[in-house]
Amino acid sequence: MPDLALVIREISEEMAQRSDRGAVADYIPELARVDPGQFGMAVIDAAGRVFAGGDSETPFSIQSVSKVFTLTLALGMVGDRLWKRVGREPSGNPFNSIVQLERERGVPRNPFINAGAIAVTDVILSGHEPREALGEILRFMQFLAQDSSIAIDETVAASEKRTGFRNTALANYMKSFGVIDNPVDYTLGVYFHHCAIAMNCRQLARAGRFLAHNGINPSTGHSVVSAERARRINAIMLTCGHYDGSGEFAYRVGLPGKSGVGGSILAIAPGKASIAVWSPGLDAAGNSHLGRIALERLTQRMGWSVFGS
Ligand code: GLU
Repeated sequence: MPDLALVIREISEEMAQRSDRGAVADYIPELARVDPGQFGMAVIDAAGRVFAGGDSETPFSIQSVSKVFTLTLALGMVGDRLWKRVGREPSGNPFNSIVQLERERGVPRNPFINAGAIAVTDVILSGHEPREALGEILRFMQFLAQDSSIAIDETVAASEKRTGFRNTALANYMKSFGVIDNPVDYTLGVYFHHCAIAMNCRQLARAGRFLAHNGINPSTGHSVVSAERARRINAIMLTCGHYDGSGEFAYRVGLPGKSGVGGSILAIAPGKASIAVWSPGLDAAGNSHLGRIALERLTQRMGWSVFGS
């Protein structure tokens, strides 16, 4: 078995030296200002050991990675009824695309593109005040990561709101088909805020552990979801977790993963490890450029691809 600590050290050193970094997201000024020269990773193995490298303690905006956790919460609230509101097919389109919504009568293709995540957020919001729903999501993250210091970056949330014309269009369009129940402003307010949660690699890897261990978070011993549900969330991460770069990610990395435009990726090696990488420069599909390369190196060297070593 390769020495995981050594593998992570070597990957972190390589990533620090590379000059190809991708371009930071620039749809809001807060993300455009982040230094692209950063790279961090954290891996938590089945025994709970944390292996980290680079800027693993620097907080970043988790953005769409929050969609894994809102999906988990919504499934816990309404079970398989959720699939009436959102599909589970890869979209093959950019994260904020509206085109498929017309063909599919306002039902988004999957919970990991913006339209799908907005529909999932609407389900969590139903029967609650926006503040309560948001508190529920944040407390869930804090509980999974066992860290009450995790917070929302209000500046990022406000900026998302100010510039969220496309997300507002998606939400209104879905509302016209009856896919959104709550006032669009409320649903979007909760959505923008959960995208703006700030975490570091170690916290994110810890929050993902239940997906690597059949629904049980070994940090606490709590069963978060059933083994079947964990397996299915992993399946959706594998097929839909990287927007229209999901096929390429499966081909190169071979793990369920979810990326966000803040440059982080949560990847799951079932039975083995929960992994978080972060580097703010993105590739053309909006996924972390160095994050993906680092995960490719890690799975190759550790033999962790779900498709075989
Ligand atoms: N808050 C971002 C948006 O809705 C999320 C984008 C992402 O990470 O995919 O545009």
